[in-house]
Parts: sequence; structure tokens; C-alpha cells
Amino acid sequence: MRVLGLETSCDETGVAIYDSERGLLADALYSQVALHAEFGGVVPELASRDHVRKLLPLVQQVMDDAGLQATDLDGVAFTEGPGLAGALMVGACAGRAMAYGWGVPAIGVHHMEGHLLAPMLEADPPAFPFVALLVSGGHTQLVRVDGIGRYTMLGESLDDAAGEAFDKAAKMLELGYPGGPQVAALADKGDTGRFTFPRPMVNRPGLDFSFSGLKTFTLNTIDACRSGGELSDRDRADIAAAFQEAVVDTLVIKCTRALKQEQLQRLVIAGGVSANTALRQRLEAKLAQIGGRVYYPSLAYCTDNGAMIAYAGCQRLLSGQHSDLEVAVRPRWPMTELSPVEVEEGR
Ligand code: ATP
Ligand code: MG
Ligand code: FE
Repeated sequence: MRVLGLETSCDETGVAIYDSERGLLADALYSQVALHAEFGGVVPELASRDHVRKLLPLVQQVMDDAGLQATDLDGVAFTEGPGLAGALMVGACAGRAMAYGWGVPAIGVHHMEGHLLAPMLEADPPAFPFVALLVSGGHTQLVRVDGIGRYTMLGESLDDAAGEAFDKAAKMLELGYPGGPQVAALADKGDTGRFTFPRPMVNRPGLDFSFSGLKTFTLNTIDACRSGGELSDRDRADIAAAFQEAVVDTLVIKCTRALKQEQLQRLVIAGGVSANTALRQRLEAKLAQIGGRVYYPSLAYCTDNGAMIAYAGCQRLLSGQHSDLEVAVRPRWPMTELSPVEVEEGR
């Protein structure tokens, strides 16, 4: 089965074609980062309008790249939620309309299920069951995964998401948007030993997170360093390093706790923050120590992309599920409401 996947939940227009026999056939991404940069964050109305401009040209591009025509496709998957309502509408309307015009089924995909299944696009995908750490711009969740659509929420952030914390720290350090990669690059040059940031909620039982306190701590540390003068490059690098260390440490502690609780040894990390090198290295070391293994998507599929939507949609279409003709989006949509899917062997 060949499925066209459309991702338009936020500020990336992602389009891809996934073939259940041959894997990913084509993949294209347009990021609106430059459009939103001057506002320091995503402006919803601008995002929707830009998806309208970019979506169909990208569809044409992936079809050309894959050497396919509309008649070669067996289904269309689009991100139905969660995300920005207007942005989701663009992908949902276009996806639903194309599927109708081509006479193939359409399927609305949960954006976080897309992230969660992105490691399945790799050559050596994890087997079920596993624990997944979803760390993105809007979510920080620990999930037990017993199969596609079989999710048990183990813990989540009570306030800011990990990616959001990175973005806010970047803003305070006067770095650009999105901040994660820039904080990470600066942290490489810094000393993790100069400042000790708190590890929120690690001394309490449970698997929830809280990252909003790190904002205040970052701000206070910046103020203390300034004390009348300018923040030096060294100060900024040391703050970035201590901040990243605190986030990574907290995530590693909670992942280890979740694996122990669920008596599992496979960990999947996905979502934008799973691109973070320090996080990957620390988790790999930890999992090696406990005889487990960590799986993650390749860098291109950590942040938003069409490939993960095409893949997730394909699995659901293969199992016989599809959306009806009504165009609906779900800006808020708990992942635990998804229906289970029986996975086909050999994908
Ligand atoms: P959600 O998936 O929750 O709806 P989103 O789609 O905006 O949110 P993603 O595209 O998955 O989020 O990820 C973007 C986030 O990942 C941003 O907050 C960004 O700062 C962060 N990020 C990207 N690369 C890195 C990195 N190397 N280190 C830390 N954070 C990173
Ligand atoms: Mg984005
Ligand atoms: Fe995302």
C-alpha cells in the first residue's frame, strides 16, 4: 500500500509517500521558521496561510521525486490533531479532497502517534512493548506502548514541555527561534559545573514532569551574572550547559524509573528534543548500563515531517480504518483515545 502523508499541525509543511513494501519513497519539508522568527514564536494565522501556499507544490514535488502519479496511490493520511486549528484545517481539507478526487480512503492521524512511530522508519525498529519518551515543542510524555494505538500514559509535564523550555531559555539567552538546537550548540562550549540548576520533581515518586521552574532559575542566573554589566559569552555558554544538563538529567531519571516500573528494557525517544545529542548520549549510556536499548528516529524525523504521518496513516489504513467524508480536526486530542491496530508482519 502506498500512502501520501501530509503534516501541517504547526509551522512545518511536511509531505511524504510511504510504501508498506518498499518503505519511504519520497519526502519533502518546508519549514516556516524564517517567517515566524521575527515574532519569536509561531503566529497561527501566518502559519495557516503559508501551509496553503506550500502544500500542493510539495505534493507535486514528492510525486515527481517518487516517479508516481495519483493513480499509484492507495490512500492519503493527514494530521488531524493535536495542533493549531487553522493549520490542521489546511492539511485536513487538502488531504480529504485529494483522497475523494482520487477515489482512495483518507485517514486522520494523531500528530504524537506520528512522532512516536517515527523510529519505525529506521532499518532496525523497536519491537513492542516499549516505553516511549515523547519530547517535543508542545509535549513531554512517558507512554507505555503495547502496539500501535495501545498506549498507557505513564506521566507527562504539568506545565511547559521540554522543547518549550529549551525555546524559552534560548529567548532569555538572546538566541533565535526555535531555540533547542541553538541552546544545545552553545551548551557544547560551556562548563556544566559552574551553575547547578534544579532537577524538577525527581525527588517525588511518579513520572510527571515540570519544566516551568527552570525558566525562573535561568532568568535569576542571568541576572546574577549580569549584575550591572553585560552577559559574557562564557556566562551564556555556562548557563546553556547547566540548563541542558538539568533537563537531560531529569529526563534520564524519569525514563529509568518508567522502565523499571514497567519492567521493560526498550526505550524509544521521539519528537524534536530527541534530536538532542546530550540526551541521546546520556540515555544510551544509561540503557547500556541496565542491559537495555534506546531507539530514536534519524535527525530528519525527530522534528515535524510528513514521513511519520504517511507511516502512521499507512498502518491504520492497512488495518481497515479510515476517516469519513466530513472534514474534522482535533486541536486537542489525548493520544490514549486512539483505537488499537493489529500490526502486519513485515510491514
Ligand atoms: P508537538 O509535536 O508537541 O506538537 P512541535 O511539533 O512544535 O510540538 P517538534 O517539531 O517535534 O515540536 O519539535 C520542536 C521542538 O524541538 C522545539 O521546541 C525545538 O526547540 C526542539 N528541539 C529541536 N532540536 C533540538 C535539540 N537539538 N535540542 C533540544 N531541543 C531541540
Ligand atoms: Mg516546528
Ligand atoms: Fe511535532
